[in-house]
Amino acid sequence: MRNDLSSFWMPFTDNRGFRRQPMLLASAKDMHYFTEDGRPVLDATSGLWCVNAGHGRAKIVEAIQRQAAKLDFSPNFQIGHPIAFEFADRLVEILPRSFNRVFFTNSGSEAVDTSLKIALAYQRAIGQGSRTRLIGRERGYHGVGFGGLSVGGIVSNRRMFGPLLPGSDHLRHTHDPSRGICRGQPANGAELADDLERLVALHGAETIAAVIVEPVAASTGVLVPPQGYLERLREIATRHGILLIFDEVVTAFGRLGAATASEYFGVRPDLITLAKGLTNASVPMGAVAVSGHIQEAILDSASRGIEFFHGYTYSGHPLAAAAGLASLAVFHEEELFSRAAALAVRWEAAVHELASARHVTDVRNLGLVAGIELEARAGAPGDRAMEVFRSCYEEGMLIRVTGDVVALSPPLIIREEQIDEIVSKLSKVLERTE
Ligand code: PLP
Repeated sequence: MRNDLSSFWMPFTDNRGFRRQPMLLASAKDMHYFTEDGRPVLDATSGLWCVNAGHGRAKIVEAIQRQAAKLDFSPNFQIGHPIAFEFADRLVEILPRSFNRVFFTNSGSEAVDTSLKIALAYQRAIGQGSRTRLIGRERGYHGVGFGGLSVGGIVSNRRMFGPLLPGSDHLRHTHDPSRGICRGQPANGAELADDLERLVALHGAETIAAVIVEPVAASTGVLVPPQGYLERLREIATRHGILLIFDEVVTAFGRLGAATASEYFGVRPDLITLAKGLTNASVPMGAVAVSGHIQEAILDSASRGIEFFHGYTYSGHPLAAAAGLASLAVFHEEELFSRAAALAVRWEAAVHELASARHVTDVRNLGLVAGIELEARAGAPGDRAMEVFRSCYEEGMLIRVTGDVVALSPPLIIREEQIDEIVSKLSKVLERTE
């Protein structure tokens, strides 16, 4: 039944524009959404970077159905249920070795705020209570909680909400348009990690608890880290006793062709945040993974009773845990992470064909991710990309746009001819866009 579409206050949406020109996706299967009138829409963006195994996967659907009938909800405060433990056990098997403790949340934003709290609690537990400062990076996106906003670096997300967490600060971002178009990781720019030394010199290492970065910054338009940058950041953080958090809400579960970006880059952070692909987006869930010594330090520092005063009613929700277990099984059985790694070569070649398309000023890629940057219209940043978004939908394809960047991140089950379809639909739309 159609209504005037006004009751639901839509998130991160031009609500007035949507009411004028609504776009509604009614169902989905594998690589496609379907509109209410049954028109297929190729999913070039895995929903919101999250449906890594494709839509409506039978194994995941059935696991959720079974779990809903067996145990719909049970608390995890001072009493537990088996499936949350089982999921944590399976999950740590695919994470880098030593990441053997998992704190469950319900979203990426909650995972980020939880990771910041764990970092503060750990520093305090090991006698470093003066370390209360949290460092993020310009152009970083870490969700919408006050912690994530404070370390995030997107002005429009921050400006309405006051001073945010006191003491937080930001590294400069890694994007440098003067490098020109490059494939994969830029060769130059590792020294941008030295910006952490600047903040250490400014604030004093003994005030800094943690630095959080997205290994590949997704939401501000796919910023791929320069070669050696993450390694250098790791080295500087270690030298100054600063915890390194990788926000892997987007990059985990095969997006780069490995279980995590940490594995892909061969760089070991201290904490990893997860969400999105964790349950193939079928039930909301996030998580923070840490190594045992971090948890044990926090447990041991408490004199008695509850050690860490933090958690959510739905932390480790049975339906999410069931969905997560089934998602891991699908990833494993279909070898989707190595499939993504193999497809990345074809993907890179295909998306770089767009470098010569109309309006395109830059193309960036890594794994099964690409950012296609468009020239902004004078005085109207974002408008051209938004028009491209709408036209692609009319053309039967879902993309994501952020500012004037088209971000592509298809499900890992994509076939080669569908890669070609994405590129040809996008170049056709760009050609006819003013
Ligand atoms: N962190 C990163 C890197 C993200 O990309 C996102 C969402 O896109 C989040 C955190 C927030 O996740 P959520 O929207 O589930 O709260």
